[in-house]
Amino acid sequence: MKYDVIVVGSGPAGSVTARFAAEAGAKVLIVERRQEIGTPVLCGEGISRKIDDWDMLEGTRWIAGRMEGARIYSPDGTMVKLSADMAGNETGYVIYRDIFDQELARRAAKAGVKIMMNAQAIGLLKDEGKIKGVKINHFDEERDIEADVIIGADGVESKVGKWADIDTTLKPKDLETCAQYTLTNVDCKDAYCDFYLGKKIAPGGYIWVFPKGKDVANVGIGILASLSEAGMAKKLLDEFIAKDSRFAHAEPVRFLAGAVPVANPIETVRDNLILVGDAARHVDPITGGGLTHCLEIGKIAGEVVGKAVQTQDFSQDFLMEYEMRWKEVIGKKMKRNYRVKETLLDMDDKTFNMLADSLKDYKFEELSTLSLIKALVLKHPTLLMKLRPLMKISE
Ligand SMILES: Cc1cc2nc3c(=O)[nH]c(=O)nc-3n(C[C@H](O)[C@H](O)[C@H](O)COP(=O)(O)OP(=O)(O)OC[C@H]3O[C@@H](n4cnc5c(N)ncnc54)[C@H](O)[C@@H]3O)c2cc1C
Repeated sequence: MKYDVIVVGSGPAGSVTARFAAEAGAKVLIVERRQEIGTPVLCGEGISRKIDDWDMLEGTRWIAGRMEGARIYSPDGTMVKLSADMAGNETGYVIYRDIFDQELARRAAKAGVKIMMNAQAIGLLKDEGKIKGVKINHFDEERDIEADVIIGADGVESKVGKWADIDTTLKPKDLETCAQYTLTNVDCKDAYCDFYLGKKIAPGGYIWVFPKGKDVANVGIGILASLSEAGMAKKLLDEFIAKDSRFAHAEPVRFLAGAVPVANPIETVRDNLILVGDAARHVDPITGGGLTHCLEIGKIAGEVVGKAVQTQDFSQDFLMEYEMRWKEVIGKKMKRNYRVKETLLDMDDKTFNMLADSLKDYKFEELSTLSLIKALVLKHPTLLMKLRPLMKISE
C-alpha cells in the first residue's frame, strides 16, 4: 500500500488537514485507533463564532446551542460579562463534538480521503533515517503503509513527533488536567457560558458551565498539573456542583477526564513529516481551547502538503512554509498568551477580585490591552505592580 499522505488521527486537525491535502490532488489515508470518530468525547464543546465564516461544516446538526456571550466570575462572585464576539474562542456555540468530528471527517471523505478505523500507528517506517511511512496495528494485525508525508494529528499524547525526534515533552506546568460532567435536569437560565476563576476553586485553571440546551450543561474543570494531585480535579468539581443551586436536581449522563497542553508551540516540521493540532501544542495557553486552531491551521497544513505532493518535494525546507504560515496566524498570540498565563499564575484570589471589580463595568467593545490595563489600574492602583508583566507584553 502506498499513499502520498498518511494522517495519524481523525480529530479535527487530522480531518481538516487530510481534506485540504486531498482537495489539492493528494492521495490521502487517515489511520485512527478508535472504533468511532469523535467518541468518547473529550471536550467542553465550546467553539467561537469564527466557524460561521469558514467552509468547514455543512448543516447545523453539530450545534447544541448558540451562545449570547460569557460571564467570568472572580472568587468573591464579582461577574464580568462579555459578548460572544469579545469572549474568545470557546463561547460562540456549544457543539456536539462527536457529530462535529464526524462531519469534518465526512468532508475529508468527500474530497477522496480514505479512512481506516481500529488502526493504531505504532511507529514510523524509516529507511536509513528517512521517513517512508507508518507501521500500524490494524485489528491486531501489524502492517506497514508507505507514504511521502506523515501528518502527526494524534492529539495531546502525540507519539508521532517523538518518533521523528521532535521534543514533545510537556512539563506539568504546561498541562491542564480536566474533568467534566454532562449534567441533565439542570436549570440553564440563558445561553451564556460561565467561567469561575480562583486559586481555591481551580488552581491554575477554571471551572466552566456550558449550556447544551435548556436543561443540559457541560460542567467541567481544568487545573494545572503542577498545582494538583491525583483525583483533585474531580473533587473540586464535585464540591462546586454540590454548592450551586442550578444543579440541585441534576444527574450525570457523561463523565470524562482528559488533558490539554497549555504550552508554547514546538517545532512542527521535519523531512517528510509535520505536526498539527494538539500534537503541535496549538492550544490557547490561557483558555485551553484548541478547536479553532485545528481548523485554521489544519487548512494551512493541508494546502502546503498538497503543494508538496504536486512538486514532489517533501523536504523540511519545502514543508517549512507550513510553520511560517501558522506562525503568521497564531505565533504571536500563542507567545503572548503563554506569558499572560504565567502572569495570571502569580496572582492570588484577592487580585482576581480586584481585577473583576475593575472590569465589571468596562466597555469591552473598545477592547485594547492598553485601555484595559488603564481601566484596571484606575479603580485599584495597587494592581499596577501586579500587572507590570502584562504591560511589557502589550508594548
Ligand atoms: C476536557 C477538555 C475540554 C476541552 N474543551 C474545549 C473547548 O470547549 N473548546 C475548545 O476549542 N477546545 C477544547 N479542548 C481542547 C480540544 O479538545 C483539543 O484542542 C482538540 O481536540 C484537538 O484536536 P486534535 O485533532 O489535535 O486532537 P484530538 O481531537 O485529540 O484527536 C487525536 C486523534 O488521534 C487519534 N490517535 C492518537 N494516537 C493515535 C495513534 N497512535 N494511531 C492512530 N490514531 C491515534 C485519537 O484517537 C484521536 O482520535 C478541550 C480538551 C479537553 C481534554
